[in-house]
Amino acid sequence: APYVRADLRELLDSTLTMLKRKIGADVTVKTDYDPALPEVPVYAAELNQVWTNLIVNALYAMQGSGTLTIRTGRENDHALVEIADTGVGIPEDDIDRIFTPFFTTKPVGQGTGLGLDISWRIVADRHGGDIRVESLPGDTRFKVLLPLTESAA
Ligand code: ADP
Ligand code: MG
Repeated sequence: APYVRADLRELLDSTLTMLKRKIGADVTVKTDYDPALPEVPVYAAELNQVWTNLIVNALYAMQGSGTLTIRTGRENDHALVEIADTGVGIPEDDIDRIFTPFFTTKPVGQGTGLGLDISWRIVADRHGGDIRVESLPGDTRFKVLLPLTESAA
């Protein structure tokens, strides 16, 4: 798959369109895209997998009702994508383990525990970026940072 400059808004909107049927009527989706954000060098199909993983996790955490907020912005020499939900939150004891392969708190058959491991590898190893998490009950934010200059593997 090619490493090309892409508009993050287009990637995020296409993921949201793909997930439309999974988003319940009681979930509000808000987007807040920075119109001044330059295009970002990405492996688009892989990054769409990251957005999908993060959004599906957020929807699960909200159990059918809440607000999903997707924001883009610039942080120095990185693009920032923040995916936030108003769901249950991540217990402090879990937060250092959520990127570990096979770590899941979902019932057997509902989660593989691989989504964040794969997302981490796509963002960090493939794009030279970073994922940060902040979570309180009712306010969980995953921040994906992607270098604006080419640094792909
Ligand atoms: P899975 O979704 O299969 O459980 P992931 O790697 O995607 O695997 O996530 C691992 C765990 O991280 C989840 O089981 C859950 O405990 C926690 N988690 C991830 N995202 C969120 C979120 N938005 N809100 C609350 N917990 C989350
Ligand atoms: Mg998951």
